[in-house]
Amino acid sequence: MAKKIGIALVIVVLLLVVGIWQRHRILVPLATSGERILPSEEASLPANGKSVGQDAYFYVVQLDERTFAVAEPYSWPKNVNYLIAGTNRALLLDAGVGFYDIRPIVEQLTDLPVTFIPSHLHYDHTGQGNYERIALVDLPHLRERATGGMFKPSWGEHLGVAEGLEPTAWKIDEWVQPGSEIDLGDRQLTLIYTPGHTDNSISLLDNANNMMFTGDFMSAGNISAYYPGASMGDYLQSAQKIIRATADNPDIALRGAHAGDDGQLPVKSRADIEILRDQLVRIKNGELDGTGFYPRIYAIKEDVVMQAEPRWLQNWSATYPNDEE
Ligand SMILES: [Zn+2]
Repeated sequence: MAKKIGIALVIVVLLLVVGIWQRHRILVPLATSGERILPSEEASLPANGKSVGQDAYFYVVQLDERTFAVAEPYSWPKNVNYLIAGTNRALLLDAGVGFYDIRPIVEQLTDLPVTFIPSHLHYDHTGQGNYERIALVDLPHLRERATGGMFKPSWGEHLGVAEGLEPTAWKIDEWVQPGSEIDLGDRQLTLIYTPGHTDNSISLLDNANNMMFTGDFMSAGNISAYYPGASMGDYLQSAQKIIRATADNPDIALRGAHAGDDGQLPVKSRADIEILRDQLVRIKNGELDGTGFYPRIYAIKEDVVMQAEPRWLQNWSATYPNDEE
């Protein structure tokens, strides 16, 4: 009898360990239907733009002469993609969910050759990978998986399973070193590796024009740090990095990749990142507690919450601990 109870206990413990270890594999499909989420018919539209494309699905706001936000106000994540042009070439930072093709919209906005670069590999930023030219951040843990110039996001990097999408393999034309400059012709962007939301997240800093594109690092009201590859240690390291990189631009506009409930384009300030850094330190030291179990919700400031793992599952080590560019 005692032996049977012992075996049963071992099995329960093993199931628990495997369940916790594989929690994302279990929770993402459980929390989602795996069916495509259809665009909503109603949306709050950002100010000062115009609806374009098939079904008027996209909404373009011109930010300055050479910078456009290409928003998807009818998609559930309310994605905001950016077309950033110089005089020789342009970058498309993020390409949306991909159920609608963003390329015809981009072609209407510029005649320059356009390279797609994802702020990170989540499916709602990568379109479906159908681009002529693709650039990717040159990180050892990504580069080592590329074979013959082809790279395929993993299940957990992509998360398309949430809407029935499989990651596809991409041909990478450019591997961009963290900290290096991308020359668009009369316009330089610095690629800054800013992991936290994922371990492949980047930001693009346009120093001269006082703007930075920060992907999902901090968009409107919600910071998500509990999906596969997310790390609290990375978040803290990246917050410090953004603060350092923007030391000369105290008024810089930090443009994120998802609109909030009001539908307006997400813009955060350098001061917001300083608050995030301070709150992360407090979470790390056990001075700021959250609510709920999974995800655990931390109030970062009055209009921003962070969704994280429960404290005992939080990862406070950085993916690249010595990366202090
Ligand atoms: Zn994301």
